[in-house]
Parts: sequence; structure tokens; C-alpha cells
Amino acid sequence: MSPRIGVLALQGDTREHLAALRAAGADASTVRRAAELDSVDALVIPGGESTTMSHLLRVFELLEPLRTRLADGMPAYGSCAGMILLATEILDAGVPGRDATPLNAIDMTVRRNAFGRQVDSFEDDIDFEGLDGPLHAVFIRAPWVERVGAGVEVLARAAGHPVAVRQGRMLATAFHPEVTGDRRVHQLFVEMVIDRA
Ligand code: GLN
Repeated sequence: MSPRIGVLALQGDTREHLAALRAAGADASTVRRAAELDSVDALVIPGGESTTMSHLLRVFELLEPLRTRLADGMPAYGSCAGMILLATEILDAGVPGRDATPLNAIDMTVRRNAFGRQVDSFEDDIDFEGLDGPLHAVFIRAPWVERVGAGVEVLARAAGHPVAVRQGRMLATAFHPEVTGDRRVHQLFVEMVIDRA
């Protein structure tokens, strides 16, 4: 049976993730309410703006239910803003009260808009651990990872910094595989979710 994978749809590029997950064999649907979160086996947190997404998680009363499901081991994949939210610590998180709030799913410190000081957005072919051949990676005001805990595997780097990481059944990328038509990262996540069953 296909795993039921939700895409958090408060803000950001949900449509491309739904298409990529379906192409990778998942039964994909949007998640905006706690009842929808309850009905999925795993969750994708898309790119967008992490401060806005944190605000909307509170408004939609999803912050605590989501933290609870992640703490209980629900697999999750975050891209860009989603990577930021899955961290345990966020640097340059924004102004207090309107800042990006960590969901504590991956033991890592992430710097928001890290590449932004050098180049706003860029594309690069990068090596990605376990994937056959280089991956075309699109970075849009992307974060990078500054620290990983002992249980975190670094899967890819750019400019010397980790930009793809895995901890158990949690996956995060600083870039946007959903926009390239290459489904290998979503396939990896779907396989991680199925392994759990
Ligand atoms: N800079 C954005 C943030 O802080 C992330 C950009 C993106 O998701 N493409 O959330």
C-alpha cells in the first residue's frame, strides 16, 4: 500500500511537492488542520518563508500537534524553509515574536538566509550520498547547516556547508528538488517512510 504523505500547505510551494510525491508512489495530500495531520504517515514541510510558516502554525493551532507527532517519530522531510523549521536551533531566526520557531526534529543548527549574504539564489550540480550521479540543486534564499549532532548524517554539501542531512527517518535539504523534475530525493523519502512500516 502507498504511504500517506502530507504536505504542510499553510504557505509555500505545496503543488510541486504533491506532484513529486505522487510520482514517487505516495498517496499525497495537503495538511492544514490537526485532523489532516492525524491522518498521514509522514509529512513534507515545503519551502516558503519560515517566519510566516511558524506564525501560521500557531494561528492554525498546528504547532504543538506537529511537535508531538515529530517527537513520536513521524518521518518528515523539510526543504529550505522546511529544513529551517525541522532544526533544533535557528540562527538569524528573525525578529522576536515573528521569528522562525524550531520543531526540534533534527539535531542541528541552521542559519537562515545563509547564502543570501553572498548570492541570493543559485543552482549547482552537487553530489548527494546514496544517489546515483550528481543532483541539480536549486537554492533560493537558502539556509545552510552550521552544526550537526552525532546522530545526523550529512548527505550533501555546497560551499563547504552541509545542505542535505538525515537523522533516522527525518530528512532535510536546503535546496528545492521539487522544482527540477528529478524525483530521486522524494523517492528516497518515500522509501524512508515505507521502511518504517
Ligand atoms: N529564506 C526563507 C526562510 O527563511 C527560505 C527560502 C525558501 O524556502 N526558498 O524561510
